[in-house]
Amino acid sequence: MRRVCRRCLLQDMPDEAALLQSVRELIDLLEPQARAPQEAVRRRLEACAACAHLNAGTCALCGCYVELRAAKARMGCPDVPPRWTPQNG
Ligand code: SF4
Repeated sequence: MRRVCRRCLLQDMPDEAALLQSVRELIDLLEPQARAPQEAVRRRLEACAACAHLNAGTCALCGCYVELRAAKARMGCPDVPPRWTPQNG
């Protein structure tokens, strides 16, 4: 039986390697100026990993794969108040 970790990022779910690869390919397509700095992505994902709205790699509030959302500089956390904010205004 396939196990899904509701409180995990894709990167923490070995069974989701293909999906994680697809998300990473989408991140690779982002223009460099559209990407959040690596340290910001790390901090954002740390917040997501500790958040009750994380659901099997997606955010229950917006439906995004959090690894993709966190990689985009202009995106912010949809929670109120946000747990992390856009990088470029
Ligand atoms: S509410 Fe914010 S911190 Fe929580 S999973 Fe969604 S994007 Fe991540």
